Amino acid sequence: MTRALVTGIGGQDGHYLSRLLREKGYDVYGLDIRGDRTDDHFLVVDISDHSSLVSALRKARPSEIYHLAAQSSVAASIEEEQSTTVINAHGLSRLIDASREAGMDLSKLRICQASSSEIFGYHTPDALDELSPFRPETPYGRSKLIAHKYAMSLRSEGIFACNAILFNHESPLRPDTFVTQKIATGVAKIALGLEDSIALGDTSICRDWGFAADYVEAMWLMLAQTEPDDYVIASGKPHSIASFLEHAFRHVGISDWEGRVKTDKRFVRKVDATILYGNPSKAERVLGWKPKVSFQQLVALMVDAALERLSSSIPENH
Ligand code: NDP
Repeated sequence: MTRALVTGIGGQDGHYLSRLLREKGYDVYGLDIRGDRTDDHFLVVDISDHSSLVSALRKARPSEIYHLAAQSSVAASIEEEQSTTVINAHGLSRLIDASREAGMDLSKLRICQASSSEIFGYHTPDALDELSPFRPETPYGRSKLIAHKYAMSLRSEGIFACNAILFNHESPLRPDTFVTQKIATGVAKIALGLEDSIALGDTSICRDWGFAADYVEAMWLMLAQTEPDDYVIASGKPHSIASFLEHAFRHVGISDWEGRVKTDKRFVRKVDATILYGNPSKAERVLGWKPKVSFQQLVALMVDAALERLSSSIPENH
């Protein structure tokens, strides 16, 4: 049975990845900074705490590590640059350091680092691929680039380390601080008569959105190759926030939606890309990976989940 360690298992991708790995027959250990699961495969560890990390690695003895633990919000990174850098930039090197101290044979270890489209910055309206220049413009992007380059350099020591250069991927598990979930929840509240409108920043910006369950499958596939490499994981299709809104409102039968969206300057970022999308052709060619869930299906499943969540919390006499 292959043993895997998933850091950040309590987050969105950790949920889908651990489910996938169990389906594939893995013995899955998970690590997160907090959590109340009591099973002995769940380890509450701060990635910055060296001695706890060494103990966790001694217990899990993984042959594959999926390093997802991060401060994952670009917006929060602007407010909290120092802590973002500590966790995101140095988490992978701390894992390597702790793996050595735990006595693991690093030549037999396979590692997937959750890298990000934010390492490219916002300099081009063209599709970004593995050869695009790295010009990050946010603390989050800078921190992810440090870990990305560290993973690349591990390969010169013979360590099997891959970067999954992830573009935005969503699910019903996304927090409301991300625009997709804010829209899904807001539209569901309007459909249920709980609210009248949603306040958003610039709805013309375009992003490349996919479904989280598809993206974690790409992580698993890259560790199953004979050579380590870096892969852009994206849908390849940019969509505007306005288009997300339109599909979400249409899904609940509302066609005159524009008047229900208010512009709030507090949600407009000082630095932001008008358009950001990836070219996943290398992942398609080498890994045989393709996203299964379309943009329209993603919007529908997020709105349906929000409707279900909210409906079950509405008192009967509402
Ligand atoms: P989440 O924020 O949902 O999950 C990250 C998990 O890491 C959270 O449970 C978080 O706990 C935990 N964590 C934070 N700090 C530490 C720490 N010091 N020690 C241990 N655990 C910690 O992110 P996603 O699942 O969405 O993303 C997974 C990875 O992919 C992340 O590295 C993210 O940056 C990257 N990525 C994601 C994209 C996306 O669109 N989802 C796009 C590009 C990259 P808590 O929440 O309590 O802080």
